[in-house]
Amino acid sequence: MDDCIFCKIVKGQMGTKFEKETENLVVFKDINPQAAIHLLVVPKKHIKDMSEAENILWNEIKDVAVSIARAKALSGFRIVHNVGDASVISHMHVHFLGDVTSDRAV
Ligand code: AMP
Ligand code: ZN
Repeated sequence: MDDCIFCKIVKGQMGTKFEKETENLVVFKDINPQAAIHLLVVPKKHIKDMSEAENILWNEIKDVAVSIARAKALSGFRIVHNVGDASVISHMHVHFLGDVTSDRAV
């Protein structure tokens, strides 16, 4: 996808620093953080959302999220995935919000 900002980030064309990279995923900081730690876990392949994702990709996302939480010694984290019209950017991404506690608003 030529006009996709996340495809450009994945290809290194935006100079975005990756917090982590695996075979099929990159992880980078959200530009407009909603928590002290707000990362985006992004498949390298352009797919629009979970409706196009293989189950094995979700396993990789889960492993990455757990390993980031361990590496940062987080006491809790939150995963958000917007699908279809709920999403602004139509390249699949999973929000990782770190050190979120259970007394949050929503
Ligand atoms: P969503 O509503 O789930 O599509 O969220 C898209 C997210 O991408 C938002 O939280 C934005 O702040 C974030 N975002 C947009 N452009 C960039 C960028 N160039 N680098 C990092 N995060 C971005
Ligand atoms: Zn894309």
